Amino acid sequence: MSQQFDLVVIGGGPGGYEAAIRAAQLGFKVACIEKRIHNGKPSLGGTCLNVGCIPSKALLDSSHRYEATTHDLAEHGISTGEVKFDLDTLLARKDKVVDQLTGGVAGLLKGNGIEWLQGSGKLLAGKKVEFTPFEGDVQVLEPKYVILASGSVPVNIPVAPVDEDLIVDSTGALKFPEVPKRLGVIGAGVIGLELGSVWRRLGSEVVVFEALDAFLPMADKALAKEFQKILTKQGLDIRIGAKVAATEVNGREVTIKYNQAGEDKEQVFDKVIVCVGRKPYAEGLLAEDSGIKLTERGFVEVNDQCLTSVDGVYAIGDLVRGPMLAHKAMEEGVMAVERIHGHAAQVNYDTIISVIYTHPEAAWVGLSEEAATEKGYTVKAGQFPFAVNGRALAAGSAETAGFVKFVADEKTDRLLGMHVIGPNASDIVHQGMIAMEFVSSIEDLQLMTFGHPTYSEVVHEAALAVDGRAIHAIQRKRKK
Ligand code: FAD
Ligand code: NAD
Repeated sequence: MSQQFDLVVIGGGPGGYEAAIRAAQLGFKVACIEKRIHNGKPSLGGTCLNVGCIPSKALLDSSHRYEATTHDLAEHGISTGEVKFDLDTLLARKDKVVDQLTGGVAGLLKGNGIEWLQGSGKLLAGKKVEFTPFEGDVQVLEPKYVILASGSVPVNIPVAPVDEDLIVDSTGALKFPEVPKRLGVIGAGVIGLELGSVWRRLGSEVVVFEALDAFLPMADKALAKEFQKILTKQGLDIRIGAKVAATEVNGREVTIKYNQAGEDKEQVFDKVIVCVGRKPYAEGLLAEDSGIKLTERGFVEVNDQCLTSVDGVYAIGDLVRGPMLAHKAMEEGVMAVERIHGHAAQVNYDTIISVIYTHPEAAWVGLSEEAATEKGYTVKAGQFPFAVNGRALAAGSAETAGFVKFVADEKTDRLLGMHVIGPNASDIVHQGMIAMEFVSSIEDLQLMTFGHPTYSEVVHEAALAVDGRAIHAIQRKRKK
């Protein structure tokens, strides 16, 4: 290749393409190598845009609109005729959204003068990069810097081998050609709850098998308990402590054999989704003598600034430690580039938001009450429900479930965590993130004026509740 690049990014997912754009803004000559083919075409945007965040949210939105139309309108005095959906149109809309966004990323790379090299990249010794295009000869590039951003793939379990027909992973679960009558979901994590909810709303009977004895163990306990109750009431059959021992395909049916509370059981399904986590993807990425160190679990080893064991080579996103989230990948990409440019950029890993996009949504940032206690804080906490919020009640009973909870340090009044179940929780939780970034105290939040009537008033009331001062609740144990 005649061109000399300052930076080569391997992987055009959210981590990789944002890194490439930021580098181009800073004046670097950049190439981004991406090998993904989606629906028969080379495609940028990684897991997130092609088979992750975006298509799953498109399906969550469509299925929510269907459920809201069939369930939530009567109390408003609105009646409808027979409400139907056309699955082909619903899936085609999802594909159109994906195409629009992946095409948008291609436009952004082009507009920023970034070369999209279509094919595979491999890091060689001495920071060189081997580029194997879909067509044409292999080339060796010699950039000054490399960012590895090859992402992750689903974990497979031998007891439920994915056949992309009856037993699928998250990608297959985005395109069932018809609504399965009986759907088994292995793993009650984020994907299981989101995609399980999509198909339940469209008519499937959904059973979710979770091997652990706790539901969402990483979440605040109060949030996890309330969330499980809400999802169960909606009709998701969540079986905790259910260890899948085997799956058996018979004709067009799959039997899941599992053990729960010491008892062997089995149940028959039309489709099964396996969603038991994701693992870093480094297949074909590293020559043996590349000098890159991997952790035991296959992540590329990096420091706080995403620098690998090779000078000038960074690694970001799902390929490295930390939560496998698109926004985390994006910020690491920007940080790596800014570090290369000499800025003192740093991702604040303490304020990375988690969201589960069901309805209501569940979202949190910072420490749970349990984690804060474990870290040695003297914790004070307060929560306030949406059930008595004027805006939620005006919107209808579908918006009144859940609460906002704050976790704070009793000694300093510093905000340590925010936990939300409720309408627009994914957006509301950003108030906690911003407050934490500004090292806010609970008193700061108490002293602010929140608009009325808004869902955000629950944020204010929850901050007041930490000190027993919520106005729209009887709080007898006033602390201040
Ligand atoms: P990826 O997005 O995986 O991109 C890596 C890219 O590198 C891939 O396109 C791959 O083809 C390419 N590549 C790999 N090796 C090579 C190579 N050798 N040469 C060239 N190219 C290569 N996260 C959220 O924050 N919010 C959500 O709502 C959300 N929903 C999700 C829903 C689902 C169903 C799934 C599966 C994931 C979801 N995620 C969500 C997670 C999110 O998609 C990932 O965290 C994010 O995509 C990681 O970004 P990345 O850039 O590190 O890797
Ligand atoms: P996950 O880690 O969220 O959940 C996997 C669940 O499967 C866990 O509860 C685990 O205990 C359980 N499990 C593991 N092995 C099992 C087994 N053999 N039988 C039954 N249960 C088992 O993983 P996921 O849901 O596959 O999602 C993968 C990644 O994608 C996550 O890290 C998540 O961050 C990301 N993602 C994020 C979003 C979002 O931000 N809204 C949405 C989807 C995916």
